[in-house]
Amino acid sequence: MASTVCSVLQCRFRNRFSRTSENGPNMEDSTPAESSAEPLTLSSLQKMIAEMFGHKDAKRGVEGTFMWFMEEVGELAGALRAESQAELEGEFADVLAWLVTLANLRQVDLAAAIERKYCRGCPRCRQDVCQCHLSAKP
Ligand SMILES: [Zn+2]
Repeated sequence: MASTVCSVLQCRFRNRFSRTSENGPNMEDSTPAESSAEPLTLSSLQKMIAEMFGHKDAKRGVEGTFMWFMEEVGELAGALRAESQAELEGEFADVLAWLVTLANLRQVDLAAAIERKYCRGCPRCRQDVCQCHLSAKP
């Protein structure tokens, strides 16, 4: 199961923020091969980002943070045109991290928001497999 998500899960914050981890907090010496922590969730990602950057995010505020988010979206646009998969993955991670930061600043529970909006099918047509016309924004 060697995916991009799994490589994110190996970070040292993984066990600290995984609600269902049985390994206890912050196993500094655990290697990816030894680790058995639960998969990263949106909730644990929000907690990790809050702990890592929350003190700076609060000072910067929503407006300043949004500017960084948009800059990262621009960098993602460039990476989508480029050949480097590593660069592309990094830019996806950056965009998601800044999006999570904005959610933290506005006290948005992303998992709950996604569940409310998308876990009952397409928000527009309500089908599990969207039947909306290609030109329609779901
Ligand atoms: Zn639809």
